[in-house]
Amino acid sequence: MSDQPVAIVTGGASGIGLGIASTLIANGYDVFVLDNDLHRVDDYNASHRLSRARFCDVSDATAVATEIDGVLHVAGRIDLLVNNAGISGPTAPVEAVDPSEWQKTLDVGLTGAFNVTRSVAPIMKAQSSGAIINIASNAGLMGCPNRSPYVAAKWGLIGLTKTWAMELGPHKVRVNALCPASVDGERIEAVMARDGEERGVSVGDIRQSYERQSSLQSFTRIEDIASMVCYLASDAGVRISGQAIGLDGHTETLGNSLGEI
Ligand code: NAD
Repeated sequence: MSDQPVAIVTGGASGIGLGIASTLIANGYDVFVLDNDLHRVDDYNASHRLSRARFCDVSDATAVATEIDGVLHVAGRIDLLVNNAGISGPTAPVEAVDPSEWQKTLDVGLTGAFNVTRSVAPIMKAQSSGAIINIASNAGLMGCPNRSPYVAAKWGLIGLTKTWAMELGPHKVRVNALCPASVDGERIEAVMARDGEERGVSVGDIRQSYERQSSLQSFTRIEDIASMVCYLASDAGVRISGQAIGLDGHTETLGNSLGEI
């Protein structure tokens, strides 16, 4: 039985999830990462003495249930679940989206969060405590041309956030979603490269057009997300549930694919 608060971070072996996991460890959490990239899982375990990552594809409900059982067996309880795993999916107009890419984007970003939450919810209900944080996107708050599968996954995740907050609230379990804008890092570089290629403009011009979408005219940083996770999981966030919280420097429209460079 862990004598520290216990957290699970999906997709925590790289990117935003890794930033969240590292910040939680620094804040005294016993962190369990679930990730489906074996290489990154090995790297994580080699560099994190006080935490462990396990290979797990969140879209596989059976594998998820086994891993959550394993965490409960080792740690004795689960205080925080961060549903972070997600893929960006294709950048293409709706008629060019391959149905298999549509399905995969939803399988990871939406069904994955459902799979993990359905295994964790009974544990948190039995404890009468816990927090669940879904990493959505500002693409879950407005339309985003040429990103149909991603938008569907993120709007769905916010709907689930509100629904789970209602189901679990009476059991003192809080559920919130975070909605970052483009986050500095490898993944957004790839999205911008694809968008630039599609529109025949430079990545630098794409970056400027993305940054200009927010009032603060800058991308979200991983540490902005990690510190909000810690806040929501702490006693300071005890009255916050069912919210989709923008971490996007105030964005009113996602015109990045509207030719507004
Ligand atoms: P990333 O691709 O850098 O990292 C995602 C991690 O999830 C990787 O370690 C990957 O191995 C893991 N993963 C992918 N599929 C998985 C699966 N089926 N099962 C388990 N693990 C899986 O992505 P990121 O930029 O760190 O994004 C993390 C989350 O934040 C995603 O949900 C994403 O939609 C959201 N988000 C990202 C941005 C951004 O600009 N990067 C903006 C808003 C929201």
